Amino acid sequence: MIIDLRSDTVTKPTKGMLDAMMTAEVGDDVFQEDPTVTALEERLTTMFGKDKALFFPSGSMANQIAIKLHTNPGEQVICDKYAHIYNYEVGGVAFHSGASCKLIDGNRGMFTAAQVKEAINPPEYYYSQSSLVEVENTTNKGGGACWDFEEFEKIKNVCKTHDLGFHIDGARIWNAMIAKNETALQYGNTFDTISVCLSKGLGCPVGSVLIGDEQIMKQSLSLRKLFGGNMRQVGYLAAAGLYALDHNIERLAEDHRKAKDIGNALEDMSIIKKVEPIETNIVIFELESHVDDSEFINQLAEQDIKIIGMGSNKLRMVTHMDYTNVMHERLLEVLNAF
Ligand SMILES: *Cc1c(COP(=O)(O)O)cnc(C)c1O
Repeated sequence: MIIDLRSDTVTKPTKGMLDAMMTAEVGDDVFQEDPTVTALEERLTTMFGKDKALFFPSGSMANQIAIKLHTNPGEQVICDKYAHIYNYEVGGVAFHSGASCKLIDGNRGMFTAAQVKEAINPPEYYYSQSSLVEVENTTNKGGGACWDFEEFEKIKNVCKTHDLGFHIDGARIWNAMIAKNETALQYGNTFDTISVCLSKGLGCPVGSVLIGDEQIMKQSLSLRKLFGGNMRQVGYLAAAGLYALDHNIERLAEDHRKAKDIGNALEDMSIIKKVEPIETNIVIFELESHVDDSEFINQLAEQDIKIIGMGSNKLRMVTHMDYTNVMHERLLEVLNAF
């Protein structure tokens, strides 16, 4: 039994999901003739109360195209120093959009409306024009932290006043909704564009969706083609997404509960200096400085437990659908015996 806690992307489709995929009605989505893709896009459009949704092969592509929709070359995206778009998308903001990032020194990947105001460049001709504010919920590098929704509303007002777009990277938006008892409509009302992943906590093999109103999404279809993200009978994957929306959202609470148990076990270990607050399914902890992180990772690997390092003697564990109760008991035993 291998216990893989490196990411919530390691899950494999369940029997029910595979059945839904196998029996999907499909067509050529480049001709916009795949009924299952259309059904998934319509479902999310309704859920978030927007005009349009577009299926993507990855969350990175959905984010990068959102940034391109909101910016012109030379302009600036305001985001946190922990942002996925800045750290883990290969400098795509510069490569694809010719834009730069103005980084906010936030708290666990989150910042305030006051910090946004400060980050906006003055209108003088020699500044880069601020055109987009980007946030992430839950924050990945911030350890699955959830924003206070009121702060989003405050930032939205700043965006309105200064004519800035407002995009949310919602790779784990479902975890935030479950943890904080929020609705998709709240997000739809607050953000101009929303990217969501089906391939993380929801357990799909592939799939992300970008959601927004007609006006901002106008170029999204041609940009997806430009990026090479067009796909043919992709309804097989959209079927997994529809299945996940029906079956796999509420159960995220279980992943969150297990993550808290893991955090409690880690707190009791003498070689661990600090466990970051656990709000969802991500556990980030720091080893005492005399403990070598790769050695600790190897010790767990010898017991068939896989986790990853984040640098600076910090490590990460992520709970997910394929992390069973039996695995959970075993992990807690191993940690308690350390
Ligand atoms: C995983 C992730 C993405 C997108 O990842 P892909 O692997 O490209 O699907 C975007 N943002 C965050 C915060 C993520 O965790």
